[in-house]
Amino acid sequence: MLTVSVPPDVQETLRSALRTSGPNECGGILMAEHIGPDHFMVRQLTVQGGGRFASFVRGTRTAFRALSQYFRQSGHDYTRFNYLGEWHSHPSFSVQPSSIDHRSMLDIVTNAKVGANFVVLLIFRLVDHEKLEGSAHTYFPDGTIAPSALVIEGST
Ligand SMILES: [Zn+2]
Repeated sequence: MLTVSVPPDVQETLRSALRTSGPNECGGILMAEHIGPDHFMVRQLTVQGGGRFASFVRGTRTAFRALSQYFRQSGHDYTRFNYLGEWHSHPSFSVQPSSIDHRSMLDIVTNAKVGANFVVLLIFRLVDHEKLEGSAHTYFPDGTIAPSALVIEGST
């Protein structure tokens, strides 16, 4: 099973994005470091707000700009530092992906232009204005959807 870890600084970014968006969804792309077999650490993410999931999906100028900056900062070491997938919030319902979420992610992973071997979807919400709750799923080009492990570092 694939594991995605979220370090404290990224958690802080997420918490503030979720607080700012209140009842509205926000989301963006995930940039990660490959830190071990099937283990990825989220290093950066973009935050876009005020829309439905489909409008956060990659392809926006913000996402491309963030991604090329990430590649530059990490010395174009693509096997270690790369695009991991997408995230968004479910402010007021379960953090499990909807059928539209599944379909959008399969569209991304089967898109030849993206050329990904897999993509990850993280969904978050804030519980009691403070605690991050989330889910992780991995999508493969053959249409497989695999539940993945999400590690919110430092939380119990
Ligand atoms: Zn969703």
